[in-house]
Amino acid sequence: MRFPQVPLIASLGIFSAATPHVDVAIIGGGLSGLATAKDLASAGKTFAVLEARDRVGGRVLNQDLPGGGVEELGAQFVGPSQYRALALASELGLKTYKTYNTGNSTFLRNGTISHYAENDERIPPVGKESLLELANFIGEFNEMASKVNVESPWKSPNATALDSITLGSYVKSAISTADARMIIENAISAILSTEVQEPSLLFMLWYTAGAGNGTRPGTLQDLVGTTGFAQDSRIYGGTHLLATRLAKKLGTENIHLQAPVHQVTFENGLYTVKSDAVTVRAKHVVVAMSPPLASRISFSPLLPAGRDQLSQRMPMGAIGKAIAIFPKPWWREQGLNGQALSDTGVIRTTFDSSPANSSHGALMGFIEADQMRKLDALTEDEVKVQVKESLTALFGSQVESLTDILIQRWDLEEFSRGGPVAYGPPGLLTQYGPYLRSPVGNIHFAGTETALGWAGYMDGAISSGERTAAEILKDF
Ligand SMILES: Cc1cc2nc3c(=O)[nH]c(=O)nc-3n(C[C@H](O)[C@H](O)[C@H](O)COP(=O)(O)OP(=O)(O)OC[C@H]3O[C@@H](n4cnc5c(N)ncnc54)[C@H](O)[C@@H]3O)c2cc1C
Repeated sequence: MRFPQVPLIASLGIFSAATPHVDVAIIGGGLSGLATAKDLASAGKTFAVLEARDRVGGRVLNQDLPGGGVEELGAQFVGPSQYRALALASELGLKTYKTYNTGNSTFLRNGTISHYAENDERIPPVGKESLLELANFIGEFNEMASKVNVESPWKSPNATALDSITLGSYVKSAISTADARMIIENAISAILSTEVQEPSLLFMLWYTAGAGNGTRPGTLQDLVGTTGFAQDSRIYGGTHLLATRLAKKLGTENIHLQAPVHQVTFENGLYTVKSDAVTVRAKHVVVAMSPPLASRISFSPLLPAGRDQLSQRMPMGAIGKAIAIFPKPWWREQGLNGQALSDTGVIRTTFDSSPANSSHGALMGFIEADQMRKLDALTEDEVKVQVKESLTALFGSQVESLTDILIQRWDLEEFSRGGPVAYGPPGLLTQYGPYLRSPVGNIHFAGTETALGWAGYMDGAISSGERTAAEILKDF
Protein backbone atom coordinates (compact mmCIF):
# COMPACT_ATOMS: atom_id res chain seq x y z
CA MET A 1 0.00 0.00 0.00
CA ARG A 2 1.30 3.49 -0.83
CA PHE A 3 0.41 6.33 1.47
CA PRO A 4 0.18 9.89 0.17
CA GLN A 5 2.82 12.33 1.33
CA VAL A 6 1.53 15.52 2.90
CA PRO A 7 4.14 18.22 3.45
CA LEU A 8 3.32 20.08 6.62
CA ILE A 9 5.12 23.03 8.10
CA ALA A 10 5.44 23.95 11.72
CA SER A 11 2.61 26.09 12.98
CA LEU A 12 2.83 29.82 12.49
CA GLY A 13 0.43 30.14 15.39
CA ILE A 14 -1.90 32.19 13.19
CA PHE A 15 -3.79 31.37 10.03
CA SER A 16 -1.74 32.15 6.92
CA ALA A 17 -1.66 31.28 3.26
CA ALA A 18 1.05 28.75 4.15
CA THR A 19 -1.25 26.84 6.50
CA PRO A 20 -1.20 23.32 5.11
CA HIS A 21 -4.37 21.89 3.70
CA VAL A 22 -5.37 18.22 3.94
CA ASP A 23 -8.56 16.34 3.24
CA VAL A 24 -8.89 15.22 6.85
CA ALA A 25 -7.38 16.44 10.12
CA ILE A 26 -7.36 13.69 12.73
CA ILE A 27 -7.07 14.79 16.33
CA GLY A 28 -5.54 11.99 18.42
CA GLY A 29 -2.94 9.38 17.48
CA GLY A 30 -4.36 6.49 19.50
CA LEU A 31 -5.53 3.33 17.74
CA SER A 32 -8.83 4.94 16.67
CA GLY A 33 -7.13 7.92 15.03
CA LEU A 34 -4.48 5.78 13.36
CA ALA A 35 -7.10 3.29 12.10
CA THR A 36 -9.07 6.19 10.58
CA ALA A 37 -5.90 7.43 8.88
CA LYS A 38 -5.12 3.97 7.50
CA ASP A 39 -8.41 3.65 5.62
CA LEU A 40 -8.29 7.26 4.39
CA ALA A 41 -4.76 6.70 3.12
CA SER A 42 -5.83 3.54 1.32
CA ALA A 43 -8.53 5.58 -0.42
CA GLY A 44 -5.91 8.12 -1.50
CA LYS A 45 -7.03 10.91 0.81
CA THR A 46 -4.56 13.29 2.43
CA PHE A 47 -4.58 13.56 6.19
CA ALA A 48 -2.68 14.89 9.16
CA VAL A 49 -2.75 13.25 12.60
CA LEU A 50 -2.27 15.73 15.44
CA GLU A 51 -1.25 13.92 18.61
CA ALA A 52 -0.80 15.68 21.94
CA ARG A 53 1.81 13.35 23.41
CA ASP A 54 5.37 12.76 22.22
CA ARG A 55 4.32 9.26 21.12
CA VAL A 56 1.46 7.53 19.34
CA GLY A 57 -0.76 4.89 20.96
CA GLY A 58 -2.67 6.77 23.67
CA ARG A 59 -3.98 4.16 26.11
CA VAL A 60 -1.61 1.57 24.58
CA LEU A 61 1.94 1.82 25.89
CA ASN A 62 4.97 -0.49 26.09
CA GLN A 63 7.70 -0.20 28.70
CA ASP A 64 11.12 -1.60 27.77
CA LEU A 65 12.86 -3.42 30.63
CA PRO A 66 16.53 -2.70 31.34
CA GLY A 67 17.42 -6.39 31.03
CA GLY A 68 15.51 -6.76 27.72
CA GLY A 69 11.86 -7.59 27.13
CA VAL A 70 8.80 -5.39 27.41
CA GLU A 71 5.75 -5.01 29.61
CA GLU A 72 2.47 -3.34 28.69
CA LEU A 73 1.38 -0.44 30.88
CA GLY A 74 -1.95 0.02 29.07
CA ALA A 75 -3.93 -2.43 26.91
CA GLN A 76 -2.56 -5.95 27.05
CA PHE A 77 -5.00 -8.68 26.00
CA VAL A 78 -6.83 -9.64 22.81
CA GLY A 79 -9.74 -12.05 22.58
CA PRO A 80 -10.67 -14.47 19.76
CA SER A 81 -13.71 -12.45 18.67
CA GLN A 82 -11.84 -9.15 18.60
CA TYR A 83 -11.58 -9.54 14.85
CA ARG A 84 -10.51 -5.99 13.99
CA ALA A 85 -7.64 -6.01 16.50
CA LEU A 86 -6.50 -9.44 15.32
CA ALA A 87 -6.75 -8.40 11.66
CA LEU A 88 -4.66 -5.29 12.27
CA ALA A 89 -2.06 -7.30 14.19
CA SER A 90 -1.79 -9.78 11.35
CA GLU A 91 -1.58 -7.02 8.73
CA LEU A 92 1.29 -5.48 10.66
CA GLY A 93 3.11 -8.81 10.90
CA LEU A 94 2.40 -9.23 14.63
CA LYS A 95 1.76 -12.65 16.13
CA THR A 96 -0.16 -13.59 19.24
CA TYR A 97 0.46 -16.07 22.07
CA LYS A 98 -1.84 -17.40 24.76
CA THR A 99 -2.09 -15.66 28.11
CA TYR A 100 -0.60 -18.01 30.72
CA ASN A 101 -3.57 -19.87 32.18
CA THR A 102 -2.27 -23.17 33.53
CA GLY A 103 -2.75 -24.10 37.15
CA ASN A 104 -4.85 -22.74 39.95
CA SER A 105 -6.21 -19.26 40.57
CA THR A 106 -5.86 -17.54 43.94
CA PHE A 107 -8.71 -16.16 46.07
CA LEU A 108 -8.19 -13.93 49.09
CA ARG A 109 -11.38 -13.56 51.08
CA ASN A 110 -11.84 -12.52 54.72
CA GLY A 111 -8.11 -12.93 55.34
CA THR A 112 -7.94 -16.51 54.03
CA ILE A 113 -6.20 -17.66 50.85
CA SER A 114 -7.63 -20.49 48.79
CA HIS A 115 -6.73 -21.86 45.39
CA TYR A 116 -9.12 -23.15 42.78
CA ALA A 117 -9.11 -24.54 39.28
CA GLU A 118 -9.70 -21.85 36.68
CA ASN A 119 -13.09 -21.96 34.99
CA ASP A 120 -14.74 -19.89 32.30
CA GLU A 121 -16.57 -17.62 34.69
CA ARG A 122 -13.59 -17.09 37.01
CA ILE A 123 -15.83 -18.10 39.91
CA PRO A 124 -13.87 -18.84 43.08
CA PRO A 125 -14.82 -21.32 45.81
CA VAL A 126 -17.74 -19.86 47.75
CA GLY A 127 -20.72 -21.45 49.50
CA LYS A 128 -23.58 -23.15 47.65
CA GLU A 129 -26.02 -20.32 48.24
CA SER A 130 -23.59 -17.76 46.79
CA LEU A 131 -22.82 -19.99 43.81
CA LEU A 132 -26.51 -20.36 43.07
CA GLU A 133 -27.05 -16.62 43.32
CA LEU A 134 -24.10 -15.99 41.04
CA ALA A 135 -25.33 -18.46 38.45
CA ASN A 136 -28.81 -16.89 38.52
CA PHE A 137 -27.41 -13.38 38.38
CA ILE A 138 -25.09 -14.10 35.46
CA GLY A 139 -27.84 -15.94 33.55
CA GLU A 140 -30.35 -13.14 34.06
CA PHE A 141 -27.82 -10.40 33.30
CA ASN A 142 -26.70 -12.08 30.06
CA GLU A 143 -30.33 -12.58 29.04
CA MET A 144 -31.06 -8.87 29.62
CA ALA A 145 -27.89 -7.91 27.70
CA SER A 146 -28.97 -10.04 24.75
CA LYS A 147 -32.05 -7.81 24.33
CA VAL A 148 -30.09 -4.56 24.16
CA ASN A 149 -29.88 -2.77 20.85
CA VAL A 150 -26.10 -2.48 20.46
CA GLU A 151 -26.23 0.16 17.73
CA SER A 152 -28.76 2.39 19.54
CA PRO A 153 -29.03 1.23 23.16
CA TRP A 154 -31.49 4.03 23.92
CA LYS A 155 -33.94 2.18 21.63
CA SER A 156 -33.73 -1.06 23.66
CA PRO A 157 -36.86 -2.42 25.38
CA ASN A 158 -37.26 -0.68 28.77
CA ALA A 159 -34.26 1.53 28.00
CA THR A 160 -35.42 4.41 30.20
CA ALA A 161 -36.02 2.18 33.22
CA LEU A 162 -32.73 0.32 32.74
CA ASP A 163 -30.86 3.61 32.38
CA SER A 164 -32.49 5.22 35.42
CA ILE A 165 -30.78 2.96 37.95
CA THR A 166 -27.16 2.23 38.67
CA LEU A 167 -25.69 -1.18 38.10
CA GLY A 168 -25.09 -1.20 41.86
CA SER A 169 -28.80 -0.84 42.66
CA TYR A 170 -29.52 -3.79 40.41
CA VAL A 171 -26.75 -5.90 41.95
CA LYS A 172 -28.07 -5.06 45.41
CA SER A 173 -31.60 -6.10 44.50
CA ALA A 174 -30.49 -9.32 42.76
CA ILE A 175 -27.82 -10.59 45.14
CA SER A 176 -28.11 -11.01 48.89
CA THR A 177 -25.02 -13.06 49.83
CA ALA A 178 -21.84 -11.13 50.61
CA ASP A 179 -19.56 -13.51 48.68
CA ALA A 180 -21.58 -13.34 45.47
CA ARG A 181 -21.75 -9.56 45.71
CA MET A 182 -18.00 -9.31 46.27
CA ILE A 183 -17.30 -11.42 43.18
CA ILE A 184 -19.59 -9.36 40.96
CA GLU A 185 -18.21 -6.08 42.32
CA ASN A 186 -14.68 -7.32 41.68
CA ALA A 187 -15.62 -8.30 38.12
CA ILE A 188 -17.15 -4.89 37.36
CA SER A 189 -14.07 -3.11 38.71
CA ALA A 190 -11.89 -5.33 36.55
CA ILE A 191 -13.98 -4.55 33.46
CA LEU A 192 -14.75 -0.82 33.77
CA SER A 193 -12.53 0.31 36.64
CA THR A 194 -15.56 1.83 38.35
CA GLU A 195 -17.43 0.92 41.50
CA VAL A 196 -20.76 -0.82 40.77
CA GLN A 197 -22.75 2.24 41.74
CA GLU A 198 -21.15 4.39 39.01
CA PRO A 199 -22.39 3.11 35.61
CA SER A 200 -26.05 2.76 34.78
CA LEU A 201 -27.49 -0.73 34.39
CA LEU A 202 -28.22 -0.01 30.71
CA PHE A 203 -24.64 1.09 30.09
CA MET A 204 -23.22 -2.16 31.51
CA LEU A 205 -25.75 -4.25 29.57
CA TRP A 206 -24.79 -2.42 26.37
CA TYR A 207 -21.05 -2.80 27.08
CA THR A 208 -21.58 -6.51 27.64
CA ALA A 209 -23.80 -7.06 24.60
CA GLY A 210 -21.13 -5.51 22.38
CA ALA A 211 -18.58 -8.14 23.41
CA GLY A 212 -20.11 -10.83 21.19
CA ASN A 213 -18.62 -12.72 18.29
CA GLY A 214 -20.70 -11.40 15.43
CA THR A 215 -23.28 -14.17 15.62
CA ARG A 216 -24.37 -13.83 19.25
CA PRO A 217 -24.40 -11.00 21.78
CA GLY A 218 -21.65 -10.78 24.38
CA THR A 219 -21.87 -12.09 27.93
CA LEU A 220 -20.15 -11.35 31.24
CA GLN A 221 -17.98 -14.41 30.62
CA ASP A 222 -16.74 -12.86 27.37
CA LEU A 223 -15.53 -9.85 29.33
CA VAL A 224 -13.96 -11.52 32.38
CA GLY A 225 -12.76 -14.88 31.06
CA THR A 226 -9.24 -15.78 30.02
CA THR A 227 -8.84 -18.67 27.52
CA GLY A 228 -11.41 -18.19 24.75
CA PHE A 229 -12.48 -14.81 26.09
CA ALA A 230 -11.27 -11.17 26.32
CA GLN A 231 -8.02 -12.06 28.11
CA ASP A 232 -7.21 -14.96 25.77
CA SER A 233 -4.03 -13.81 24.07
CA ARG A 234 -1.23 -11.31 23.95
CA ILE A 235 0.85 -9.80 21.18
CA TYR A 236 4.54 -10.68 20.86
CA GLY A 237 6.52 -7.52 21.58
CA GLY A 238 3.56 -5.78 23.22
CA THR A 239 0.36 -4.13 22.00
CA HIS A 240 2.09 -0.78 21.50
CA LEU A 241 3.54 -2.25 18.30
CA LEU A 242 0.03 -2.00 16.82
CA ALA A 243 0.31 1.78 17.07
CA THR A 244 4.00 2.30 16.29
CA ARG A 245 4.03 -0.03 13.27
CA LEU A 246 0.85 1.49 11.89
CA ALA A 247 2.20 5.02 12.39
CA LYS A 248 5.37 4.08 10.51
CA LYS A 249 3.31 2.77 7.62
CA LEU A 250 1.24 5.93 7.55
CA GLY A 251 4.39 8.03 7.19
CA THR A 252 5.83 9.91 10.14
CA GLU A 253 5.61 13.14 8.11
CA ASN A 254 1.82 12.84 8.36
CA ILE A 255 1.84 12.47 12.13
CA HIS A 256 2.56 15.47 14.32
CA LEU A 257 3.61 14.67 17.86
CA GLN A 258 3.51 17.09 20.80
CA ALA A 259 0.65 18.77 18.98
CA PRO A 260 -2.19 19.15 21.50
CA VAL A 261 -5.14 20.65 19.66
CA HIS A 262 -6.87 23.53 21.42
CA GLN A 263 -9.20 24.96 18.82
CA VAL A 264 -11.23 23.97 15.79
CA THR A 265 -12.87 26.75 13.79
CA PHE A 266 -15.07 26.51 10.73
CA GLU A 267 -15.00 29.21 8.08
CA ASN A 268 -15.68 29.31 4.35
CA GLY A 269 -16.26 25.56 4.09
CA LEU A 270 -13.01 24.55 5.80
CA TYR A 271 -11.96 23.72 9.33
CA THR A 272 -8.83 25.26 10.86
CA VAL A 273 -7.36 22.96 13.51
CA LYS A 274 -4.87 24.68 15.81
CA SER A 275 -2.39 22.86 17.99
CA ASP A 276 0.77 23.87 19.85
CA ALA A 277 2.93 22.46 17.07
CA VAL A 278 1.02 22.87 13.84
CA THR A 279 -2.09 24.43 12.34
CA VAL A 280 -3.85 22.64 9.48
CA ARG A 281 -6.90 23.30 7.35
CA ALA A 282 -9.14 20.43 6.34
CA LYS A 283 -12.50 19.60 4.81
CA HIS A 284 -13.21 17.02 7.54
CA VAL A 285 -12.10 16.72 11.15
CA VAL A 286 -11.97 13.52 13.21
CA VAL A 287 -11.99 13.75 16.99
CA ALA A 288 -10.39 10.43 17.96
CA MET A 289 -10.39 10.29 21.75
CA SER A 290 -12.71 9.79 24.71
CA PRO A 291 -15.61 12.27 25.07
CA PRO A 292 -14.26 13.88 28.28
CA LEU A 293 -10.96 14.73 26.59
CA ALA A 294 -12.70 15.90 23.43
CA SER A 295 -14.64 18.42 25.51
CA ARG A 296 -11.39 20.22 26.33
CA ILE A 297 -11.06 21.37 22.73
CA SER A 298 -12.86 24.59 21.86
CA PHE A 299 -15.07 24.53 18.78
CA SER A 300 -16.34 27.51 16.82
CA PRO A 301 -19.17 27.45 16.06
CA LEU A 302 -20.03 25.61 19.27
CA LEU A 303 -20.93 21.93 19.08
CA PRO A 304 -24.63 21.22 19.73
CA ALA A 305 -25.61 21.53 23.38
CA GLY A 306 -26.47 17.81 23.49
CA ARG A 307 -22.95 16.80 22.46
CA ASP A 308 -21.47 18.98 25.20
CA GLN A 309 -23.96 17.63 27.74
CA LEU A 310 -22.85 14.12 26.75
CA SER A 311 -19.17 14.86 27.30
CA GLN A 312 -19.93 16.64 30.59
CA ARG A 313 -21.57 13.44 31.84
CA MET A 314 -19.13 10.77 30.67
CA PRO A 315 -16.22 10.33 33.10
CA MET A 316 -13.24 8.01 32.75
CA GLY A 317 -12.84 5.03 35.05
CA ALA A 318 -9.95 5.40 37.50
CA ILE A 319 -7.18 2.95 36.71
CA GLY A 320 -3.56 2.09 37.27
CA LYS A 321 -1.40 -0.87 36.49
CA ALA A 322 1.33 -2.29 38.72
CA ILE A 323 3.71 -4.89 37.31
CA ALA A 324 6.13 -6.68 39.61
CA ILE A 325 9.18 -8.02 37.75
CA PHE A 326 10.99 -11.19 38.84
CA PRO A 327 13.91 -13.17 37.40
CA LYS A 328 11.43 -15.96 36.57
CA PRO A 329 7.70 -16.77 36.97
CA TRP A 330 8.22 -18.81 40.17
CA TRP A 331 4.49 -19.11 40.99
CA ARG A 332 4.09 -21.45 38.02
CA GLU A 333 6.26 -24.03 39.85
CA GLN A 334 3.73 -23.84 42.70
CA GLY A 335 0.92 -24.76 40.31
CA LEU A 336 -0.45 -21.21 40.16
CA ASN A 337 -1.53 -19.35 37.04
CA GLY A 338 -0.86 -15.92 38.55
CA GLN A 339 -4.54 -14.94 38.42
CA ALA A 340 -6.03 -13.74 41.68
CA LEU A 341 -9.17 -12.14 43.09
CA SER A 342 -9.03 -10.32 46.39
CA ASP A 343 -11.42 -8.46 48.69
CA THR A 344 -8.68 -6.34 50.20
CA GLY A 345 -5.58 -4.31 49.34
CA VAL A 346 -4.91 -1.94 46.47
CA ILE A 347 -4.76 -4.81 43.98
CA ARG A 348 -7.90 -6.91 43.61
CA THR A 349 -7.21 -8.62 40.27
CA THR A 350 -3.95 -10.04 38.91
CA PHE A 351 -2.61 -11.81 35.83
CA ASP A 352 0.64 -13.53 34.89
CA SER A 353 2.18 -10.94 32.60
CA SER A 354 5.41 -12.79 31.83
CA PRO A 355 6.51 -12.84 28.17
CA ALA A 356 6.00 -15.95 26.02
CA ASN A 357 9.60 -17.07 26.44
CA SER A 358 9.50 -16.51 30.24
CA SER A 359 12.73 -14.49 29.99
CA HIS A 360 11.47 -12.79 33.12
CA GLY A 361 8.52 -13.26 35.44
CA ALA A 362 5.85 -10.58 35.77
CA LEU A 363 2.80 -10.37 38.00
CA MET A 364 0.44 -7.64 36.81
CA GLY A 365 -2.13 -6.15 39.16
CA PHE A 366 -4.89 -3.74 38.22
CA ILE A 367 -5.47 -0.85 40.61
CA GLU A 368 -9.10 -0.05 40.06
CA ALA A 369 -11.75 2.55 40.84
CA ASP A 370 -11.73 3.61 44.54
CA GLN A 371 -8.41 1.81 45.14
CA MET A 372 -6.83 3.94 42.43
CA ARG A 373 -8.45 7.14 43.63
CA LYS A 374 -6.92 6.58 47.09
CA LEU A 375 -3.46 6.34 45.52
CA ASP A 376 -3.71 9.19 43.02
CA ALA A 377 -2.19 11.72 45.44
CA LEU A 378 0.60 9.49 46.81
CA THR A 379 4.19 9.36 45.60
CA GLU A 380 5.20 6.47 43.35
CA ASP A 381 7.34 5.01 46.16
CA GLU A 382 4.34 5.08 48.51
CA VAL A 383 2.24 3.33 45.87
CA LYS A 384 4.91 0.67 45.41
CA VAL A 385 4.86 -0.14 49.13
CA GLN A 386 1.12 -0.82 48.97
CA VAL A 387 1.44 -2.80 45.75
CA LYS A 388 4.09 -5.02 47.34
CA GLU A 389 1.89 -5.56 50.40
CA SER A 390 -1.04 -6.54 48.20
CA LEU A 391 0.96 -8.99 46.11
CA THR A 392 2.56 -10.51 49.20
CA ALA A 393 -0.87 -11.08 50.74
CA LEU A 394 -1.87 -12.95 47.58
CA PHE A 395 1.29 -14.83 46.61
CA GLY A 396 3.41 -15.01 49.78
CA SER A 397 6.89 -13.98 50.81
CA GLN A 398 8.52 -14.92 47.49
CA VAL A 399 7.18 -11.60 46.21
CA GLU A 400 10.20 -10.16 48.09
CA SER A 401 12.38 -11.47 45.24
CA LEU A 402 11.00 -8.85 42.84
CA THR A 403 13.61 -6.78 41.03
CA ASP A 404 11.35 -3.87 40.07
CA ILE A 405 7.78 -2.64 40.17
CA LEU A 406 6.43 -0.71 37.18
CA ILE A 407 3.60 1.67 37.99
CA GLN A 408 1.40 3.46 35.48
CA ARG A 409 -1.31 5.73 36.86
CA TRP A 410 -3.59 6.60 33.93
CA ASP A 411 -5.55 9.05 36.09
CA LEU A 412 -2.47 11.28 36.21
CA GLU A 413 -1.91 11.32 32.45
CA GLU A 414 -2.94 14.70 31.04
CA PHE A 415 -4.19 13.20 27.79
CA SER A 416 -6.05 10.20 29.27
CA ARG A 417 -7.12 11.14 32.81
CA GLY A 418 -8.15 7.59 33.62
CA GLY A 419 -9.21 4.46 31.78
CA PRO A 420 -9.77 1.94 30.42
CA VAL A 421 -12.85 3.71 29.04
CA ALA A 422 -15.28 6.57 29.63
CA TYR A 423 -18.51 5.15 31.07
CA GLY A 424 -22.16 6.17 31.15
CA PRO A 425 -23.80 7.03 34.48
CA PRO A 426 -27.62 6.86 34.72
CA GLY A 427 -29.40 8.91 32.07
CA LEU A 428 -26.42 9.27 29.76
CA LEU A 429 -27.34 6.79 27.04
CA THR A 430 -31.07 7.52 26.94
CA GLN A 431 -30.76 11.31 27.11
CA TYR A 432 -27.60 11.94 25.10
CA GLY A 433 -26.53 8.61 23.55
CA PRO A 434 -27.23 9.66 19.94
CA TYR A 435 -24.60 12.40 20.26
CA LEU A 436 -21.84 9.84 20.91
CA ARG A 437 -21.04 9.22 17.27
CA SER A 438 -23.32 11.51 15.23
CA PRO A 439 -21.18 13.82 13.08
CA VAL A 440 -21.63 17.57 13.48
CA GLY A 441 -21.18 19.10 10.04
CA ASN A 442 -17.94 17.52 8.88
CA ILE A 443 -16.68 16.89 12.40
CA HIS A 444 -16.68 13.13 13.09
CA PHE A 445 -16.26 11.22 16.33
CA ALA A 446 -14.06 8.12 16.61
CA GLY A 447 -12.63 6.56 19.79
CA THR A 448 -13.32 3.24 21.46
CA GLU A 449 -16.28 4.74 23.34
CA THR A 450 -18.13 5.14 20.02
CA ALA A 451 -17.68 1.52 18.90
CA LEU A 452 -20.53 -0.76 17.88
CA GLY A 453 -18.76 -3.77 19.38
CA TRP A 454 -16.03 -4.26 21.98
CA ALA A 455 -16.36 -0.61 23.04
CA GLY A 456 -13.65 0.10 25.61
CA TYR A 457 -11.17 -2.25 23.95
CA MET A 458 -8.48 -1.85 21.29
CA ASP A 459 -10.80 -3.69 18.93
CA GLY A 460 -13.50 -1.06 19.47
CA ALA A 461 -10.98 1.73 18.92
CA ILE A 462 -9.89 0.22 15.60
CA SER A 463 -13.42 -0.46 14.35
CA SER A 464 -14.49 3.06 15.36
CA GLY A 465 -11.70 4.44 13.18
CA GLU A 466 -12.78 2.24 10.28
CA ARG A 467 -16.40 3.34 10.70
CA THR A 468 -15.35 7.00 10.79
CA ALA A 469 -13.21 6.70 7.66
CA ALA A 470 -16.16 5.08 5.82
CA GLU A 471 -18.41 7.93 6.99
CA ILE A 472 -15.98 10.49 5.56
CA LEU A 473 -15.32 8.66 2.30
CA LYS A 474 -19.02 8.90 1.41
CA ASP A 475 -18.39 12.61 0.95
CA PHE A 476 -15.63 12.27 -1.65
C1 LIG B 1 -4.72 0.16 32.04
C2 LIG B 1 -5.48 -0.17 30.80
C3 LIG B 1 -5.64 -1.49 30.44
C4 LIG B 1 -6.32 -1.82 29.27
N1 LIG B 1 -6.41 -3.14 28.91
C5 LIG B 1 -6.91 -3.45 27.70
C6 LIG B 1 -6.79 -4.78 27.21
O1 LIG B 1 -6.20 -5.66 27.86
N2 LIG B 1 -7.31 -5.05 25.97
C7 LIG B 1 -7.91 -4.08 25.20
O2 LIG B 1 -8.34 -4.38 24.08
N3 LIG B 1 -8.04 -2.80 25.67
C8 LIG B 1 -7.54 -2.47 26.88
N4 LIG B 1 -7.58 -1.17 27.31
C9 LIG B 1 -8.35 -0.18 26.53
C10 LIG B 1 -7.62 0.30 25.27
O3 LIG B 1 -6.34 0.74 25.63
C11 LIG B 1 -8.41 1.44 24.65
O4 LIG B 1 -9.73 1.02 24.36
C12 LIG B 1 -7.85 1.97 23.33
O5 LIG B 1 -6.45 2.02 23.33
C13 LIG B 1 -8.43 3.36 23.08
O6 LIG B 1 -7.96 3.91 21.85
P1 LIG B 1 -8.56 5.30 21.37
O7 LIG B 1 -7.85 5.67 20.13
O8 LIG B 1 -10.03 5.24 21.35
O9 LIG B 1 -8.20 6.35 22.54
P2 LIG B 1 -6.78 6.77 23.10
O10 LIG B 1 -5.85 5.65 23.11
O11 LIG B 1 -7.06 7.45 24.40
O12 LIG B 1 -6.26 7.82 22.04
C14 LIG B 1 -6.61 9.19 22.08
C15 LIG B 1 -5.37 9.98 21.69
O13 LIG B 1 -5.71 11.35 21.65
C16 LIG B 1 -4.66 12.11 22.21
N5 LIG B 1 -5.21 13.39 22.62
C17 LIG B 1 -5.98 13.69 23.68
N6 LIG B 1 -6.31 15.00 23.69
C18 LIG B 1 -5.74 15.53 22.57
C19 LIG B 1 -5.72 16.84 22.01
N7 LIG B 1 -6.36 17.88 22.56
N8 LIG B 1 -5.02 17.04 20.87
C20 LIG B 1 -4.36 16.02 20.26
N9 LIG B 1 -4.35 14.77 20.75
C21 LIG B 1 -5.04 14.52 21.89
C22 LIG B 1 -4.14 11.24 23.34
O14 LIG B 1 -2.83 11.57 23.70
C23 LIG B 1 -4.25 9.85 22.72
O15 LIG B 1 -3.06 9.47 22.07
C24 LIG B 1 -6.89 -0.79 28.46
C25 LIG B 1 -6.73 0.54 28.83
C26 LIG B 1 -6.03 0.86 29.98
C27 LIG B 1 -5.84 2.31 30.33
